[in-house]
Amino acid sequence: MIPMVDLKAQYSEIKDEIEQGIATTIENCSFILGPNVQAFEKEAAQYLGVKHAIGCASGTDALHLALLAEGIGQGDEVITSAFTFIASAEAIKYVGATPVFVDIDKKTFNITAETIVAAITPKTKAIMPVHLFGQPADLAKIKDLCDKQDLKLIEDCAQSFGARINGQQTGAIGNASGFSFFPSKNLGAFGDGGLVVTNSDETAKQLKMLHNHGSDVRYYHDIIGYNSRLDDIQAVVLRAKLKRIDKYNQARRHIAHLYSELMTDLPLTTPFEDGLGEHVYHQYTLLSESRDEVIKALQDKQIGCAVYYPVPLHQQNVFKQDHAGLSLPVTEYVAEHCFSLPICPSLCDNSIKEIVSVIAEVF
Ligand SMILES: *Cc1c(COP(=O)(O)O)cnc(C)c1O
Repeated sequence: MIPMVDLKAQYSEIKDEIEQGIATTIENCSFILGPNVQAFEKEAAQYLGVKHAIGCASGTDALHLALLAEGIGQGDEVITSAFTFIASAEAIKYVGATPVFVDIDKKTFNITAETIVAAITPKTKAIMPVHLFGQPADLAKIKDLCDKQDLKLIEDCAQSFGARINGQQTGAIGNASGFSFFPSKNLGAFGDGGLVVTNSDETAKQLKMLHNHGSDVRYYHDIIGYNSRLDDIQAVVLRAKLKRIDKYNQARRHIAHLYSELMTDLPLTTPFEDGLGEHVYHQYTLLSESRDEVIKALQDKQIGCAVYYPVPLHQQNVFKQDHAGLSLPVTEYVAEHCFSLPICPSLCDNSIKEIVSVIAEVF
């Protein structure tokens, strides 16, 4: 049996550090906005090369708060991908704006400056690229487009913690960017958590109020805010893992490259690295005309396998009425043919070979 992710294996190495940290939080009862949150925000900002990092309750909240802080609201259009987790578009709806879905590149699975430009209207206020599966979107071109058209750039970095593009971290280029610490993400907490980052002092000031009941000084409230804070206990976990994130991402890259090497001769499309940024393989996702047979063979051997994502957002029940008639041929093709294999830093070479041999038998 090989699961999609083995969170327990990663835990054993950092168990003592985490247990001691959590015990201290409990001892001091510093549960909310405690010292570990402050320290983590500082360490994460330093790692990501951004001026401000603000912890919040989830990746979904991080995107929601980023849009709010950048003034996106009712009547605005935000261009994003339909080949992503629902939260990217949910955040856009929360602020009263309309998600405008554009097609992806068949190799990178990301939206591109070319697909975005055709969808810009006078109502467009922001672009939200998703660095899907850990591969940075082509931010040089997308940022250029945003600058020329006076649009905000909001990066969905939920799957790309630690991915670099032209020497910069994903999240450091946009006006505001959101990260998720859902347990299975590249940097995962022991529950929900998120982070919004920005280089703008003004945006940071808004974010600090928005995530804490619209308050800068306790019991004085300037705006209607939210209760969306990162727990101190989660910050303990994240601080321990942040120290090791490059090692974790290196292990993911090693696994991905070994998979691809072992599968070169199989009739499958292995992940493409565009060379613009460094892919951190949140998922290892392939395309196959025989997807269902491959999945069945893996399931029969109790090997993890998943389809991210089977239904593009414009075809989801919640969105299909609003986006009736929208055709995104590449997105739809990819959703019908993609599947993802187990990947997590502890996955060993022997397991990878076993998985590939099961797939090879199908052909
Ligand atoms: C996980 C994820 C989110 C949401 O993060 P949560 O922490 O689960 O709220 C948003 N966007 C993408 C692309 C994700 O993968």
